[in-house]
Amino acid sequence: MTLRYSYASELSNLASLVKPQALKNARVVAINQSLVAQLALPNTWTDNNDLLQMLFSQPSAYTEHAIAQKYGGHQFGFWNPDLGDGRGLLLAQWSDPQGRNWDLHLKGAGSTPYSRFADGRAVLRSTIREYLASEALHYLGIPTSRALCLITSEEPVFRERQERGAMLVRTCESHLRFGHFEYFYRSGEHDKLQQLFDYTFAQHFPHCLATPLPYQSLLNEIVDKTAQMIAYWQAYGFNHGVMNTDNMSIHGITFDYGPYAFLDDFEPNYICNHSDPQGRYSFDSQPGIGLWNLNALAQAFSPYLDFELIRTSLMRYEPQLLTRYSELMRAKCGLSTAHPDNPALINEWLALLAAEHKDYSQSFRLLSEHPVATLTQLRDQFVDRERFDRWAQAYAKRVDEQGLDEGQRLAQMCQVNPAVILRNFQAQRVITLAEQGDFSLFHEYLQALSEPYTVSAGMQKFTQTPPDSDKGMALSCSS
Ligand code: AMP
Ligand code: MG
Repeated sequence: MTLRYSYASELSNLASLVKPQALKNARVVAINQSLVAQLALPNTWTDNNDLLQMLFSQPSAYTEHAIAQKYGGHQFGFWNPDLGDGRGLLLAQWSDPQGRNWDLHLKGAGSTPYSRFADGRAVLRSTIREYLASEALHYLGIPTSRALCLITSEEPVFRERQERGAMLVRTCESHLRFGHFEYFYRSGEHDKLQQLFDYTFAQHFPHCLATPLPYQSLLNEIVDKTAQMIAYWQAYGFNHGVMNTDNMSIHGITFDYGPYAFLDDFEPNYICNHSDPQGRYSFDSQPGIGLWNLNALAQAFSPYLDFELIRTSLMRYEPQLLTRYSELMRAKCGLSTAHPDNPALINEWLALLAAEHKDYSQSFRLLSEHPVATLTQLRDQFVDRERFDRWAQAYAKRVDEQGLDEGQRLAQMCQVNPAVILRNFQAQRVITLAEQGDFSLFHEYLQALSEPYTVSAGMQKFTQTPPDSDKGMALSCSS
């Protein structure tokens, strides 16, 4: 259990040393104590003042080797070589008791050589959104980066209006993005690309080195993990919003949260990102974009793998995603045994929700709380009752054929259909209070999101769907 600096020392020519710049009257407002304990981080991580001291005093083990990483990315389909950590720094790496690597990354740390004309800062609004979302996805079982701590301040930061500057310490296996590899391939710096691959294999994918074709094993693993992650997004109604290749992790984790949303009403082509009028990153475009992004990444493998091998790797994506998605959806619908009628039943349920603008997560939860004999109570909420009845009859028949105890089936469904989901209108309430210095709702919501499948006392308010005026809130990229 030690701090390490392998990226800073081994890939120093792929990054820049930068010191974090403190914020005016910085104050720690949240420490993810259970994660601190899980990683067995030193005690300084449990005390607000020690933590501030540690992050900003110089020299310290967290500032001396802090680096901004260079990467590029395809943004909305266009290659941009001028990206990199413009406001985030990799402070250090930590090995947990199981020997796993965790990057300790400070977002909002001030300007870097890759900031271009921007200020290097993050605002409280966006750091709260990232903290809430990464914890929410984690507790739903969706692969994601995690939040370790949140710092607010009185530093004015200007976006559409003046906001509070803030910082987030984020952690995950590594911050290696598709865009890292794309950059060193496209810039023609193939010696640096080689260094990056060597490092990636040694640090994060040593098992691939033991296979006959390490580069293909690595690409296969990235393809598989990306497919799994996106299957989860589709099953749980998560719209990422900015699937640029600089926001795609090679570990297949959800990463770089911006104007994301969990669906309120089920709108398959929902666009959470206000700055994406064409809907490139709409909810139902995500599976296709995942493959587009993998194609972009795969080009960086072309010095090592011939075209046919790359194609074989990419061909894994669609079946993997579909298989995982089907499994997840079957579980959400309580269809525990395989049957040729399952896909049609699931599709018709989704079509009903879409046609009648029903809330995505709440509808699945209601289905988990009603034995088939009482489905009529759900029926009353639908306008096209004949259509509902046709579906409900077929569903009841299928459920009956499974021969599973009804109580057991519903209990299993309640374990995969959350009662509490992160909603933008709730996040907005949390932010409004936090901007006034009150973090009580933030902590309460985090608590509710950490047990999404149970509604504990006092948490009912977080199961509510938004009023019509607050449904399907789209957000801008500004953060
Ligand atoms: P994002 O939209 O957060 O994924 O960022 C896209 C690119 O812009 C990355 O290279 C970021 O480092 C950079 N960036 C975003 N916001 C800022 C900021 N406030 N200051 C400097 N760079 C930024
Ligand atoms: Mg980004």
